[in-house]
Amino acid sequence: MKKQIAIDAVLKAMQLCEQVQAEMVSTDAIQKVDRSPVTVADFGSQALICKAIGDAFPDDVIVAEEDAQALTENAILLERVTDYVNRFAKENVSADTVCEWIDRGSGEVGQHFWTLDPIDGTKGFLRRDQYAIALAYIVDGIVQLGVLGCPNLSYRLDAMDAERGCLFVAARGEGTQLYTTTGDFLKQVHVSEKTHRFAESFESAHGDSDAHSKIADALGITEIPVRMDSQVKYGIVSRGEASLYIRLPNPASPDYRECIWDHAAGMIVVQEAGGTVTDANGAPLNFLTGKRMHENRGIVATNGKLHQHVLNALSNL
Ligand code: AMP
Ligand code: MG
Repeated sequence: MKKQIAIDAVLKAMQLCEQVQAEMVSTDAIQKVDRSPVTVADFGSQALICKAIGDAFPDDVIVAEEDAQALTENAILLERVTDYVNRFAKENVSADTVCEWIDRGSGEVGQHFWTLDPIDGTKGFLRRDQYAIALAYIVDGIVQLGVLGCPNLSYRLDAMDAERGCLFVAARGEGTQLYTTTGDFLKQVHVSEKTHRFAESFESAHGDSDAHSKIADALGITEIPVRMDSQVKYGIVSRGEASLYIRLPNPASPDYRECIWDHAAGMIVVQEAGGTVTDANGAPLNFLTGKRMHENRGIVATNGKLHQHVLNALSNL
């Protein structure tokens, strides 16, 4: 029940994001208008998903990245968001209603809640590169469901002409499935047994690439890493297209704490595909400390087989 509502909501948000991206005139234009197309897609995606969840499960709590505050101070932007939302919700609601939908996402972490990143990988979205729409449902600190929409990810990473638009769905105990952007089942996905390349952030400021490559050396990984934005990295580990996703704290921001919506959906996608996810100390990700994971440092997501080797290499750094 929750699964299907979540899938439908993320698919709709993916369509909205793709439309906003298609109507962005040029990279120049994006910067001139202070990146507002991204903002439009962020707010629009959150409005659609929070509306769908709030309508189906009125008592559910949603902890999402955005709130409507900035929108209420920008009439032009609010009008654009309302226009996109109405197009994809197939409704004709007021701007106030759209703000109300967005603010359904202002819940607090508790015993059970949804967490949503309406656009993860903003910079990737701007570059027309990888980004994700990430929705997860968490009960007693355990992620039970993850739905990860990756509009720009092709069916196979290394086949440039492959069709693109992937949706990963993982429910606890049910494995990880891959769907198309029209909701058609493609396949069950599994991590790869072999040790080959690793994945890290495209943004070098979001990790410690020097340390990442030392770990790769220690593991005997020689292939060039896959660098991409957003939780798409978890998706490619789950499909066996990388053996490891590593994200060590950047030395310039040692106090950075990861946000729950940046990892909850991706984590279960890897776990249900047979992989393992912990922080850099080997501790499980703790989703109960608020919007940020105050007790965790860094992220290590592997095919499972490699996990202890990575942790050992980390302790020898
Ligand atoms: P990625 O594309 O994997 O780098 O993830 C994008 C996310 O990185 C954004 O949603 C931010 O929440 C997060 N982020 C921002 N600053 C940092 C930082 N200094 N270290 C790690 N993650 C960050
Ligand atoms: Mg994010």
